[in-house]
Amino acid sequence: MELPFAESYKMKTVEHIRRSTREERIRWIKEARYNLFNLRSSHVFIDLLTDSGTGAMSDKQWSAMMLGDESYAGASSYYKLKEAITDITGFDYFLPTHQGRAAENVLFSTMIKEGDIVPGNSHFDTTKGHIEFRKAHAIDCTIDEAFHTELDHPFKGNVDLGKLEAVLKKYPKERIPLIMVTITCNSSGGQPVSIENMKAVKKLAGQYDIPVFFDSARFAENAYFIKMREEAFKDKPIREIVHEMFAQADGMTMSSKKDAIVNMGGFIGFRSRELFEKASMFTIMFEGFINYGGMSGRDMNALAQGLYEGTEFDYLETRINQVAYLGKQLRDYGIPIQYPYGGHAIFIDAKRFLPNLPKEEFVAQTLGVELYIEGGVRGVEIGTLLADRDPDTRKNRYPELELLRLAIPRRVYTNNHMDYVAAAVINVFDRRREITKGLKILKEAPIMRHFTVELDRVR
Ligand SMILES: *Cc1c(COP(=O)(O)O)cnc(C)c1O
Repeated sequence: MELPFAESYKMKTVEHIRRSTREERIRWIKEARYNLFNLRSSHVFIDLLTDSGTGAMSDKQWSAMMLGDESYAGASSYYKLKEAITDITGFDYFLPTHQGRAAENVLFSTMIKEGDIVPGNSHFDTTKGHIEFRKAHAIDCTIDEAFHTELDHPFKGNVDLGKLEAVLKKYPKERIPLIMVTITCNSSGGQPVSIENMKAVKKLAGQYDIPVFFDSARFAENAYFIKMREEAFKDKPIREIVHEMFAQADGMTMSSKKDAIVNMGGFIGFRSRELFEKASMFTIMFEGFINYGGMSGRDMNALAQGLYEGTEFDYLETRINQVAYLGKQLRDYGIPIQYPYGGHAIFIDAKRFLPNLPKEEFVAQTLGVELYIEGGVRGVEIGTLLADRDPDTRKNRYPELELLRLAIPRRVYTNNHMDYVAAAVINVFDRRREITKGLKILKEAPIMRHFTVELDRVR
């Protein structure tokens, strides 16, 4: 008998989670103003809101924390992290930050000015937020295939070179401070970018003399997909692929809460010493001295260890298989989801799940509320709420994809939990025709409204 697949770790500490009743959940979600961010975690049974900072650290990471050096300057933890970053990414210069958006804040303060254009592939919401906050514009150059959820394409995160070149041609070089390539592409479904595409982007950017940065939160998952799907790399170790990926960039921002499997942390990697020095000033202003930038010594130690664990093949295989395990159950039942399955999450195509709801009634958010009521499972809307209003016209932006994301925390849940989630989604799917009314906004913030928005049911 062929031995089946099994997880590459076992459990040493567990945390109790409680199931609730449907009546309780109906009350709690109403009290939360139909915003899943407003729910107490104790009111959630299986929390798939995000895979960000929600992973389980290993025994080695916890023990590394005990060895943290909390010196303000020149801490051994800083040098340990520096070594790990250079070893894994190949970037010689780095600045620590407290999380990914802080890395964006520091980098963009250094590079972006009002009126600038930042082309990329489905910029992440905080990335776009930081660009627009500076009165600059993010232009999405993702390949069209990404927007057809059922279409099978190995690298739906790829940049459309035609779209990118059109942007590079249209605007003067002075107005395009950088190209931001997101690996993997969170907003379009955890979809990877191929090395071939990265190389082509770098070459094109070189012709226009524009630097390329990677938004690298899930770089290791991207490398795993390259190994599995890009012929030339199938025999290469993950870390070698990671090196080759980053060789196509001039720098990177990192949310370490994702693929580095820590609860908090981030950094910026640079090839240019000059840029590193310029950015250092903003790090000192916003984050802290350049030897810790918002992280404690113990956090830097855990991160250094996490970078190694997050780039181990066995770990990545376990993780990505679990996401696919959930995805397959949904797809086999005929539920419309982004395919191929993403690295960190399953994305349900809410417009096709609930075709009767008008787009003005926040289709994916409505689906998220129904799933919570059904089983205490919390996902997150990647749709109209997240897309925000157009900064110029203040009109709602209706993105091509209206998705409910089920993000799987790293090393946290078992496949039994995935079975439970699948059953809950299937139950909602079975009663989808009864869901004819969505949600309306009562109150919203001027930017990144999805975190704090207050909603009510449309009557
Ligand atoms: C999470 C994330 C960020 C922002 O990082 P935070 O640590 O949440 O601030 C940026 N880009 C991508 C692709 C992300 O997934």
